[in-house]
Amino acid sequence: LLYKTSHLLTSFPVVVVGDSGVGKTNVAGRFVNDQFNSDTKATICVEFTHSEVTLKDGTNVKIQIWDTAGQERFRALARGYYRGAAGALIVFDVTKLNTFDNVESWLRELRDFTEGPLTIMMVGNKCDLTQHREVSTEQAIAFSEENELMYIETSALMGDNIREAFNQLVQGIYEANT
Ligand code: GDP
Repeated sequence: LLYKTSHLLTSFPVVVVGDSGVGKTNVAGRFVNDQFNSDTKATICVEFTHSEVTLKDGTNVKIQIWDTAGQERFRALARGYYRGAAGALIVFDVTKLNTFDNVESWLRELRDFTEGPLTIMMVGNKCDLTQHREVSTEQAIAFSEENELMYIETSALMGDNIREAFNQLVQGIYEANT
């Protein structure tokens, strides 16, 4: 693997998956451009962006971000991008229980269609909507521990924990592959 042989050439491919409407495009957009867009168009299949992350030891690594469409009809196409992924964000919406219930099927999907070790961060997004919360932090943590995932709660709207989500994921990928 490229990132095993040279720290300088490192570029980690990361896929962003999860149901439609959970905030995938805004999570990626907040991280890459520090922007939030309340009326983003539904992603058609896959959109690509890139950025950089500084690791604990000071190493700068590039990260390729593949934002996938959540809809079933695009899934077959999105699967092509899972194959080379080193890491994944599985995003759900803390105000919609069904999007959390579906994390299990996203996990299966990733594990079926990726090759090699995959570092996965589960992201509970929209944590600014505290009044509408349907998934508790404890519930999400319990699930993440059972399934050996990292877990973080974010608000793409407020910018909370977005940078941390990507930093921790990339740190995890790095540690798993070096
Ligand atoms: P995607 O389909 O998963 O890519 O979701 P989008 O990024 O397009 O977001 C879907 C909707 O949720 C949009 O109306 C966003 O404005 C809204 N949204 C995304 N992230 C947040 C968040 O952190 N907080 C709140 N309140 N709304 C959000």
